[in-house]
Amino acid sequence: MDSLPKRDANYVPLSPVTFLTRAANVYADRISVVYGATSFTWRQTHRRCRRLAAALQALAVSKNDVVSVLAPNTPALYELHFAVPMAGAVINAINTRLDAANVASIIKHAEPKVLFVDYQYIRVATDAVKAVMGEVRALPLLVVIDDIDRPTGARVGELEYEQLVARGDPARYPPRPVEDEWDAVALNYTSGTTSAPKGVVYSHRGAYLNTMGLLLQWGVGHEPIYLWSLPMFHCNGWTFTWGVAARGGTNVCIRAPTADAMYSAFAAHGVTHMCAAPVLFNILLEACREPLPRPVEVLTGGAPPPAALLERVERLGFHVTHAYGMTEATGVVMVCEWREQWDALPPSERARLKARQGVSALTLADADVKDLKTMKSVPRDGATMGEVVLRGSNVMKGYLRNPRATADAFRDGWFLTGDVGVIHPDGYVEIKDRSKDVIISGGENISSVEVEAALYQHPAVREVAVVAMPHPHWGETPCAFVSLKREFSGAGEVSEQEVVSFCRNRMAHFMVPRKVVFVEELPKNSTGKVQKLALRDMARGLRLRAADKATPPAAPGPARHGASTPAARL
Ligand code: ADP
Repeated sequence: MDSLPKRDANYVPLSPVTFLTRAANVYADRISVVYGATSFTWRQTHRRCRRLAAALQALAVSKNDVVSVLAPNTPALYELHFAVPMAGAVINAINTRLDAANVASIIKHAEPKVLFVDYQYIRVATDAVKAVMGEVRALPLLVVIDDIDRPTGARVGELEYEQLVARGDPARYPPRPVEDEWDAVALNYTSGTTSAPKGVVYSHRGAYLNTMGLLLQWGVGHEPIYLWSLPMFHCNGWTFTWGVAARGGTNVCIRAPTADAMYSAFAAHGVTHMCAAPVLFNILLEACREPLPRPVEVLTGGAPPPAALLERVERLGFHVTHAYGMTEATGVVMVCEWREQWDALPPSERARLKARQGVSALTLADADVKDLKTMKSVPRDGATMGEVVLRGSNVMKGYLRNPRATADAFRDGWFLTGDVGVIHPDGYVEIKDRSKDVIISGGENISSVEVEAALYQHPAVREVAVVAMPHPHWGETPCAFVSLKREFSGAGEVSEQEVVSFCRNRMAHFMVPRKVVFVEELPKNSTGKVQKLALRDMARGLRLRAADKATPPAAPGPARHGASTPAARL
């Protein structure tokens, strides 16, 4: 057996770039990308990417060079997901919600050779480049991406994206096939919800396998019409940048996921699939007036989707699949795989089951929940909390130029997610919190997610976030920040006392927030996640009523997190 060597014919490095080559062969005349009145076929997209790859090489871009892009979901950002790795380089899609200082810190760390910038972000990009002058070995070459549908003429420097595409000679491609599937394909910065942003590096192999796994897990058939509501800069659009090519689908590009843009796309293009963080559901819910022209498959994740919200959005005609993932795991790695027998359950029960994060995606080797002190799996009782750990090719190569953080992220053959969860008897994992967000009251762990899920059942609640606030006796106690639905936001419509009583009827008393603060909007970070750190700071400055300082908690609930004590947060 061992004498049979690998050959070029039977061992080809796995790379998502191959999805484009196949799409050009199999779906040549099918629409690949639509953006306003502009559209391309897969034959054209392939040709444009080959041109661009050749043009990048002519600019001396080569293996392991970083090419950054600061752009919303436009055809250019889509094409660069193929053209950059086709040139042998590494794509770094930067979050467009960052300010110049944050973009500068990415440029300083990643040292891109080229920085593509959408015409609307020229100011941010030029300020960021100015800020890193003298601090990097070489400044990136700036290439403006003008609006392809309605050119504005905005320029900085000499090069414009379409000129670069036109400049490349497609006959000179393929210049650089992937040599090793472990080569880097993408660099994505974490949003820094819990610590400073880190540069996460993906391999071609990991990106390929994650794309395949997610397509299978979500059951995406061929030729989907995919709406780009999720930013491509977020884990390469949860790998659907590559995935839509793999299925010969149509990419419906929109600059921003406004209600107008999304509902227009449903009507004009017959969207079949989209991804959305739960926060987008509020936009869909508040704007919806008419039934959808056809059901839309929605993959949601990125934050725990409250069961009550899932139920409401499904009533509109969206069919939701719930997934869990993170930047370090190449996007989505767990999916709440639906079981047919659950169809017969009442809607609220279905939503409760669907709010669980689920089972490992097919191409992940394994996912587990462990007590980090012993590295033993927690019992499958749906109650004992531990840390969610992963292993498989989907897990990042590591953090760029950060050996300490890379070493800390791995232990005993597992990647540590920093999320706290339980495993139910049916093997489904449920995330209870980020380890830093668990509230420890009198030695008991309180899952902020559980308290939030209960509060979302209140008819007036639009969004809620629960964090720890100091308590003189119990160490910490839950504090809820609540934004109300528009129709309830008039002064005095809903009182703190009423919200507290609502909670008392739905959870163990020690979990009930002792403080409820009404806010217009919850503070969010650049990826739209609630900034619990900021809320904890606010909660620290709040005062409890005298009665709440004294009230002893009722008997603790069953949830325990490993052997943690108030001083031993994960
Ligand atoms: P950052 O860590 O910088 O916020 P990520 O996008 O990588 O950016 O966030 C990943 C985190 O988001 C996970 O570790 C987890 O805490 C949370 N998350 C993702 N999907 C879900 C989900 N379906 N349910 C609960 N939490 C989720």
